[in-house]
Amino acid sequence: SNVIETTGISKTYVMGTEEIHALRSVSINIRRGEYVAFMGPSGSGKSTLMNIVGCLDTPSGGRYILNGNDVSHMSDNQLAEIRNKEIGFIFQSFNLLPRASALDNVALPLIYAGLSKRERTERALESLRSVGLADRAQHRPNELSGGQRQRVAIARALVNNPSVLLADEPTGALDSKTSHEIMRLFEELYAKGNTIIMVTHEEDIANFAHRIVRLRDGLVETDEINQHVTLIS
Ligand code: ADP
Ligand code: ADP
Repeated sequence: SNVIETTGISKTYVMGTEEIHALRSVSINIRRGEYVAFMGPSGSGKSTLMNIVGCLDTPSGGRYILNGNDVSHMSDNQLAEIRNKEIGFIFQSFNLLPRASALDNVALPLIYAGLSKRERTERALESLRSVGLADRAQHRPNELSGGQRQRVAIARALVNNPSVLLADEPTGALDSKTSHEIMRLFEELYAKGNTIIMVTHEEDIANFAHRIVRLRDGLVETDEINQHVTLIS
């Protein structure tokens, strides 16, 4: 079944008298359990597409169905609710709260889900355990390495059991050894059945994904199964 179905979506930004066609007509279906990279040069529309797929923005035209819900024309409040339920975000710069422990960072999305403090702690610990960081629960971000910070961010993204993990340049701030550790974790999450979308402009990072969608000038240039997935031993 498809988690994501975009049909001919477009996005036009109006800047004064100028119109910028960031997306022209993008149709992509992503099934549950796929691991997809969105690639393309700067300005090709990756961020715009990610913002729409992540329910941070709506398309100017076309249709977007997320997990069976048409989210093309939702209000900001409706989008926020869908986003909290369906999407786990992972960013290049981690976006952790600096004064909060790893545990509290991971538990944060559960506050909106209305769980008790005890339940939040249990689920956050479980999520930290799944990324191999249960023993760092009380550490603050500045007491953790870059790779550990990104693991905390991944635990936070996973804690609500989202339909989709949406990672924007997840290794952009990491050295290559640490990047590969994060890519190994993504491969594990994929093996467990998570649906992963990774936005990157780096060819070698995209090659960890099992399907690669290339954008150019707001259009899908190619959309192919990756026959040469990089495997990490
Ligand atoms: P990428 O992430 O591949 O670099 P973007 O989606 O950021 O591409 O940008 C696609 C095009 O849309 C670019 O020409 C960019 O300048 C333009 N663009 C993106 N966001 C905005 C915005 N908020 N307002 C105006 N133009 C934008
Ligand atoms: P990335 O590095 O992820 O591609 P960008 O630098 O393209 O991100 O864009 C960062 C943010 O600025 C995005 O939210 C994008 O929508 C917005 N943006 C990009 N280009 C423009 C633009 N020309 N005018 C206004 N906002 C823009």
